[in-house]
Amino acid sequence: MKFLFAEKYLPSALIALLFISCSSKESPKPAIPPSENTKSFEAMNTFMAIKSYGPNASAANDSAEKLVFKLESLLSTTKNSSHIYKLNHAEKYPVQVDDKVKELANFALKMAKETDGALNPVLYPIVHTWGFTTEKYRVPADSEIQAILPLTDFNQVNISSSGIAMKPGMMMDLGAVGKGYAGDKILELLKSKGITSAVLDLGGNVQTLGCKKDGKKWKVGITNPWGGPPIGGVEVCDMAVVTSGGYERFFEQNGKRYIHIFDGKNGKPVENGLSAVMIIAPSGLYADALSTAIFVMGENKAIDFWKKNREKFQMLLLREDKSVLYTKELDPIIRFTYSLKSKNIID
Ligand code: AMP
Ligand code: MG
Repeated sequence: MKFLFAEKYLPSALIALLFISCSSKESPKPAIPPSENTKSFEAMNTFMAIKSYGPNASAANDSAEKLVFKLESLLSTTKNSSHIYKLNHAEKYPVQVDDKVKELANFALKMAKETDGALNPVLYPIVHTWGFTTEKYRVPADSEIQAILPLTDFNQVNISSSGIAMKPGMMMDLGAVGKGYAGDKILELLKSKGITSAVLDLGGNVQTLGCKKDGKKWKVGITNPWGGPPIGGVEVCDMAVVTSGGYERFFEQNGKRYIHIFDGKNGKPVENGLSAVMIIAPSGLYADALSTAIFVMGENKAIDFWKKNREKFQMLLLREDKSVLYTKELDPIIRFTYSLKSKNIID
C-alpha cells in the first residue's frame, strides 16, 4: 500500500504570504507602534497565518492565536480533553458542552438539512473506519460500511439547553466547519481590537477583513491540485475564500486514490470527477460548510443548489480533467495563469 500525503498547509500558507505582501514597499514603516504583524502557528491539524494592520496588530494577533487554541481544545476529535471527544465517548446523554460547540453543532445540523446530508457532522464513524483520523488507512468491506451507516443519521442528534444527545455509537466531527468558524471568530476579535485590515490563512481557508492598507483588493491564489504555483487568483475585500480539495488529504491503494471527503449516502470517499471546490462568501463558516457540501454534491446538484442560493455565495469547481466551471459573478474578479482544458461560466 502506498500512502501519499499532500501538504495541506504549504500551498495556501504560501499563497497568503506571497499574495499579501505587496504593500510593504509602498509605505514607509512607522517606528512605534508597529503597524503590521504576522503570526504563524500550527493548530487544527494545519498551518495558520494571520496578518493584521494597525497599531494594535501585534496584541490583536496574540489574542487571535489564543482563541484558535481554545477552539481547538473544544473541537478536537482526538484530544481526550475536548468537548467533542467527551461527547463521542459518552456513556449517557445529553452531554453538556461549551456554548460555542453547541452553536457550531447547531449550524452544522442546519446545513446538513439544507444540503440534503451532503454536509454531515456525524459521519465520523465512517471517516474513522477508513483510517483518516488514525492514519491507519484501509478500505473497509462493503458489509462493514453498511453496518456503520445507520450511526451517521444526523436526524438522531438533539441539541438542547441540557447539551447534545445522540444514539449510542454515534460520533460528531465538526472538522468540515471548524476552521471557517475559527476564521469568523478571529475577524470579530480583530475588529473589536480596532483592526480594519487583515488576512487569515487557516490552511486552505483564506479570510479577509476590509481591503489591503492601500485600498486595493486582496489577491487570493487558487491552489493548483496538481502541484506547482497557484492556477490563478481572485481579488476580494471582506470575503472568505475557502477551498476543499481531494488533494489535501488522501491515500492510495492498488493505484486508486481515496480522499478525505466522504459521501454520507454510501459511506465512501467522494469520486465525482472534481478535484477542488472553492467557495467565496462573506462568512467563513458558511463558505467552509459549503466547500465540503458542494464537493460532495458534485457538479449537477451543486449548480442547482447555487441557483437557489446565488445571492449568498459564489463558487468555482475544478475538475480532475483540468477544466474549470465558475459562477458568472466571479468573472470580473477571477484570473487564471494556468493552461486549463476549458473554462465554463455557470449562470
Ligand atoms: P473540509 O476540508 O472543510 O472539506 O473538511 C473535510 C473534513 O471534514 C474531513 O477531513 C472529515 O474530517 C470531515 N468530512 C468528510 N466528509 C464530510 C462530509 N460529507 N460532511 C461533513 N464532514 C465531512
Ligand atoms: Mg469545509
